[in-house]
Amino acid sequence: MNDTEIRQRLAARIEVLEDRIQAACVRAGRSRAEVTIVAVTKSVSARVAGMLPEFGIDDLGESRPQILWEKTSALSSTIRWHQIGHLQRNKASRTVEQIARIHSADRVRLLHTLIEESARSRTEPLPTLLEINVSRELAKHGFSPEEVSSIPRELLADGRLLIDGLMCMAAYSENPEDARATFRELRQLRDRLAREWGMPLPHLSMGMSGDFEVGIEEGATFIRPGSVLFEGLEAED
Ligand SMILES: *Cc1c(COP(=O)(O)O)cnc(C)c1O
Repeated sequence: MNDTEIRQRLAARIEVLEDRIQAACVRAGRSRAEVTIVAVTKSVSARVAGMLPEFGIDDLGESRPQILWEKTSALSSTIRWHQIGHLQRNKASRTVEQIARIHSADRVRLLHTLIEESARSRTEPLPTLLEINVSRELAKHGFSPEEVSSIPRELLADGRLLIDGLMCMAAYSENPEDARATFRELRQLRDRLAREWGMPLPHLSMGMSGDFEVGIEEGATFIRPGSVLFEGLEAED
């Protein structure tokens, strides 16, 4: 496909996505401005990902750090990159330098590393979401709802991280309604932790291509659509 064809396809997909987001906001009595699209570009090239800002999408997400690094070096520095997948500690240094936010702080040791790296390479605290394994699947990363309550206070209060919310993934299902209980549990956990910790936790990152509308209805402030935007564009270099 040439660039014009790719742009036409992206424009059409973004228009449909936007309509669905708006409708979900109306159903939930929420303002569209409360929901940020983090377009997950892991299935497409930097060339395709780099077109998104033309359509007003400046927040892009990657799950694998090496792929994030490749794209950050190829693309405009005005893009805000979100690390959304498991981060090994030996990849934290370069990643922390390049991202606007991490959605996948999933263990206490990583919080220590993020604090060190943030101190080394950032002037502002690193916006950080704690990933919760709400559905308690063995294959998933994330704090269990019980573990998260026991994160040491000094880590939560450390000024080099800005811990301001929670992230989760729902179990895979064809039916978006199956995600609702998981998303609701994440919101209730957020409400409880915010009270217990005496910290505002305004953000909830929940909802992918299959379930973002349910995410919005349950209070998501970040949704992470990938395939709904990029299906059919995976082979474009
Ligand atoms: C891949 C991925 C997404 C996007 O998934 P789609 O089903 O393609 O929308 C969102 N969040 C995370 C953490 C992912 O790994």
